[in-house]
Order: sequence, then structure tokens, then C-alpha cells
Amino acid sequence: MKLHKKLFNLFFLFLSFISLAQLEKEDEISCVSSSATPLHMSSSHDNWPIVDYYKKGASFIPDTNTPIKAIYLNFIFMQKDDGTGNFQEDNPEHQQYIDDIISNLNKIYSSIRGSYDRNCPSYQNIDTPILKDSKVRFLVNKMFIKNSAYWDNQSTPTNKNAQLIPGRRNWFLNDIHDEIVKRKDIPPAINVFFTESAYAYKEIVDNQSCKLGLYSTKAASQFPSFSDLDRSSKVHMQNLFVKYTQLKNKATGVITCDPPAKHPWEKVYEWISGAGGLAHELGHSLDLYHTNKVGTNCVQCIHSVMNNDGCSYRRFLSPLEIGCIHRALALSSIRKYVKKDVFSEAPININSDYLWNKNSKIYRNINVQDSATFTLSCDLILPPQGTVLVTQGSKLIIDNGATIRSTGDDEIIPKIVIKSGGELVIDNATLQNVDIVVEEGGLLSSSSSILKVRR
Ligand SMILES: [Zn+2]
Repeated sequence: MKLHKKLFNLFFLFLSFISLAQLEKEDEISCVSSSATPLHMSSSHDNWPIVDYYKKGASFIPDTNTPIKAIYLNFIFMQKDDGTGNFQEDNPEHQQYIDDIISNLNKIYSSIRGSYDRNCPSYQNIDTPILKDSKVRFLVNKMFIKNSAYWDNQSTPTNKNAQLIPGRRNWFLNDIHDEIVKRKDIPPAINVFFTESAYAYKEIVDNQSCKLGLYSTKAASQFPSFSDLDRSSKVHMQNLFVKYTQLKNKATGVITCDPPAKHPWEKVYEWISGAGGLAHELGHSLDLYHTNKVGTNCVQCIHSVMNNDGCSYRRFLSPLEIGCIHRALALSSIRKYVKKDVFSEAPININSDYLWNKNSKIYRNINVQDSATFTLSCDLILPPQGTVLVTQGSKLIIDNGATIRSTGDDEIIPKIVIKSGGELVIDNATLQNVDIVVEEGGLLSSSSSILKVRR
């Protein structure tokens, strides 16, 4: 009987994914982080501007009760087989540089700078005050892997897309990415790969060349999936080490170039540790689109993190963009990389009849009150500390094969609490790692035996 019910639930789960897939268009994206020449334009770029694109974020714009959501990243530095070729794990200067990038990345998302630009499609609801904090942070695990073939981003020179773009079937890092995803000892995270050009490395590191144009700093990411919620996520950053080395050699006088360096190393260091390009790629990972039309010559949205031309410092995110990010952290594949203990006690209040029909992850309590009926007809992931409270005269219905579960398998698990005069109706649903507490005077009814799994 239980098995039958599980199959039934799976069937409904499948149906719910299909309907979400119809609502949400999955796409991949590539972009250039510091060049005005687009390498690749996906079909949806051709339809730009999609003015309505950002409206979907309106109901997810964070408020004072929204907890800060920490997202895990793996920074994966590919090295040559002999361990050279990239930043070094045992080099304090290299480690400081990486740590400064991480710190500046978090600064971009926590101390938003800039102002509304009415030409930007993402800035359209200008009645909303500018947010100073996106409530998003990044937690980074650093990794160093020796493999010359994966280190050299020019190893497939006949296919530029295969070189650059994660999400492509023939992307040259797919195998190593898949291996990392499978490894139990590596934390699940957005995998950010740092690769180098073997040719540029030879010229810049071995031959100490001053020449410009030896390498590309184009970078690429992929949108989250709203249909395949188990899908992994990856970012590709290119040639950071050769850039760092050449600029440092030049600015510190290790090499004498013509024309000579204009700025001291401290100034150059500030620029190249600014993390604007990485913040941009992670914006794509979090479902953000470009704010400017590609190649608009720096007249539009120039301070936006999601400006595609890298014309100026990129520090601004509009409230609607931030809403889109939090929507992705509730509804898309990227949500699984949020730190498990992210939680705010401030409840989401359900004060009138409401049907919840999207497969969602929430980070707060829910209060069903004021005689409201709250119907959960799709899967819901609750924080381990979370409580769904059903008060006097109110009703919670869980039906349609929905699974209510916790984010983790911790000792602490979320609760559904039925207060006196409240009612819980369960009709074909699975509760996984969720406790039900029916207080005196509360009512629990079920049209069939409750399938409750605790593990
Ligand atoms: Zn981009």
C-alpha cells in the first residue's frame, strides 16, 4: 500500500515538474565580462529587451525579515600536471589575492552602490526604494587540481563554444565537473572553474612578454533550471593568473614595457581584485539577465552588475533583480546550494485563502491565521528550525501528492503545529522529516492513512 502511494506521489511530482517546465523557460547563457564583442548570442538575446523579464521578481524582493542567504561556491583552480600554471595553494600572496576577490564579491552583493537608470529594463519599478543589501553572500571552498588538459582552455581551439561555455554538451570541463559533483567529500556548490591559456602562459610567465592581446578574459555561466531541480551549476573564468602575472610584472618593474606602466601595482591590484566579472557571472547563475543590449557602447546601465560590456565599475543591482535572485533561491536548482541553517523566525503570514502551487523552498516560518485556508498542492521544503502554525479557525490542506520535507536530515526537523480550533487536512501527501503536533482542541483529518517518513 505504501509503495503504491509512493508511486502515486512520484507521478504527481512528475506532473508538477512538467507544468513548471512549461511556465519557466530554461536557458543557458554566455557573455563577455570585459570585452565589447559578444562571443555568443543565445536566441533569447536576440529578443532583448525583455521588459517583463524582471517583473517575476516583484513578489520576492527581500524585506527586513528576509534572512541573508549564504550560497556555497567551489573555486577550482586548474593547474598543469606539475602543479604550476595557476595560483598556488602554499603561496600567501596568491591566497591573499583570492581572499580579496571573495571579500570584494561579497561587498558587491552586500553594499550596493549606484542609482536607478531609467533606461535599464530591470529598473522599471522605480517606486521601490533602492536596496543596500541583496541579502545574498557567497561561501567559498578553494580547490587546486593538477591536470594539464583541463588547465589549458585553448585545448579545443577549433570550437570556441566548447572552450568557453559551461552547459554545452562538449564543454571541455564537463568530465571533471561531473566527477566533482559525484564526490561525497566535496561540498555541493556552484563550481567556478579557473583555467588558463597554455599559449599565453608560455609568453607571459616563461618569456615575460609585454605583448597585449595574448589572452581572453571572456567568462561564462549558465542560468539555473526551474524544471530539473537536481541539475548542477557551473561557471568558467579564464586567464586570471596570466592577467595577474603580466600586470604585476609590468607595474612592479619586473619587465619594462613600451609604453611603460601608468599606474602603481597597488592601484592595478585594486582593479583586478574587484570581482565585478565574477559577480556578473554569478548573477547569471542566480537567474539574472543582461541589463544592457550587448555592445551598446557603454551608454546604458553602465553601473549595473549585469551590464554586459564591462564599461565601468559594476556595483548596482535593482530591487527587481534582487527579487529575481530570491525567486531563484526558492524555485530553481540553485536553491540546493544555500547553507542549510539559513532561517528567519519572522513568519510569512497567510491571512486569506491561498493556494500554493509551486515547488518551493522557504527560509521562514508560516502562520496560517485569520480563518484562512492555506492549500499546499505542490512540494514545499521547510528550514529545519521552521514551523507551520495553524491557528484558531484556520485550515491547512496538503493534497495533490505534495511532499513536505526538511532541507536536511538533521536532528532538528520542522513542525506543523495545529493550535486549538485549527485544522490540518491531509489528502494524498507525503511528510518527510516533518513532525505534526496537534494541540488540544486542534483537528487532524486525513482521507487516507498519512504517509509520514522519518529518516
Ligand atoms: Zn553576461
